[in-house]
Order: sequence, then C-alpha cells, then structure tokens
Amino acid sequence: MAENKISNLLGSYSSIRKLGNLYDSYGKPDDNAIGNSPALNPKAPTRTSGELFSAARIRQTTVPERFEIICYVCQYAFNIQGRIVRTMCPKCHNMLLCENHAISGSYAGILKTIGNIEVKAGSFLDNAELFARNITLKGNAENATLRATEQLELCSYSKFNLERITFKDLVIGTDIACSFTKHVFCNNLATDGTLYGTFYCNGSVKIGPHGSITGELKARRLIVEDGGGLEGTIEIIEER
Ligand SMILES: [Zn+2]
Repeated sequence: MAENKISNLLGSYSSIRKLGNLYDSYGKPDDNAIGNSPALNPKAPTRTSGELFSAARIRQTTVPERFEIICYVCQYAFNIQGRIVRTMCPKCHNMLLCENHAISGSYAGILKTIGNIEVKAGSFLDNAELFARNITLKGNAENATLRATEQLELCSYSKFNLERITFKDLVIGTDIACSFTKHVFCNNLATDGTLYGTFYCNGSVKIGPHGSITGELKARRLIVEDGGGLEGTIEIIEER
C-alpha cells in the first residue's frame, strides 16, 4: 500500500514565505520591472550599505537548488532547478511523477517516481520493483529490486538482496552486515554497519562508531569516527 505525502506542498509554502520575506526587506518589485535593482528600478527605495548587505544575504538563501533527475522510462539524466515537481523528460517526453511514497504492509508491483520512497519497518516487498530518487529501507526487500538514483539507505534490521540494489550514495545502518562479491562504485558511502568488499568512492567515506570496512577502499575523503574500523588496502585519490 502506498500513500502520498504532502512534503512537496510544504516545500512550496516555505518557498513562498521566503519570497515574502525578501519583498518585505527590499520593497515590492515594480510590476513592469525585470529584476529589482535600485539602479535600474527608480521605484525601488534607496538603501544604506548595511541594508543592501542584509538584502544580498537574503537573496543568497533563495538561490534555487539544482537536482539531477534520471528519467525512469529512458534513463536520460538532466537537471532541474528549484524543487522537484512533476516534470517532462526532455528526451522521451514522458511525464515523470514526483510524489513521495511510504510503503507499509505487503506490497507487490512496480513503483516509480523522481521523488522519494520509504519502505517502513515491518513491511514486506513481494516481487516488487522500486525506482526513486532516494530510497529508505526499513523493511524486507529480499525479493525486490531497488534503484535509487541518489541515496539508498539500508537501515538497521532491513533485509535486501545485494544483487538487486543500485545507488549513487549508500548509507548503511547499525547491525547490517554486507559482503559484496562485485566491486562497488559509488559517490559517497557512510556505514555504521559491517562491510566487506572492494569500494571505489568518488566522494567521501564515513565509518561510524559501530561501523567497519574490510577489503579494498579508494576514496577522495575518509572519516573514521572513534570506534570505527578499517582493515585492508586504502587509497586516497588526489583532489583534481
Ligand atoms: Zn525519458
């Protein structure tokens, strides 16, 4: 069973509030003006340097975030700005759904979104296929395929099939033990569980206080917290 969440709606509301704050501090823009520069817009009030500085800071917080989206129909990668909304793939022209889903109980079938999916604790995926931007697994997905185009989080006590998961970033919870027989290529890796295998990480690796990695590891950055273990060959790739 899947249920939609309202986080997109809340995201949109907070964006509106941010814009509201910006106008409050900087004066509402002239209806006919493009942009709101005092130099270009004679209706905009003159500001002191201190006020301009604070206005500039507020502007900085409203710079739209960029997201890489992978089309779940044709696998084409493209960027969108602002927030993740229902979007047409520029290549195959399919409309991509963006709803976030939370799965509880038993679920069979195919669920695809450019939003997020959470598989709740106690739930069971029976011959299911999930495709999402971020997937958080707390239940049993031993008989499921999970494809996270950004982060896959395998939480404590979750169950999964290593042959049927793909991810860009991987987060492993306490009490999880994984032995990868194939080489793992990822961006960032964070583990508080026990990992065996060969890991090539383009970003950072973080080993938490209960975590360990045994095998071969290549990464740009490595953080081992107190209690974390690392055994094997380690290579830190030079920053370009
Ligand atoms: Zn497409």
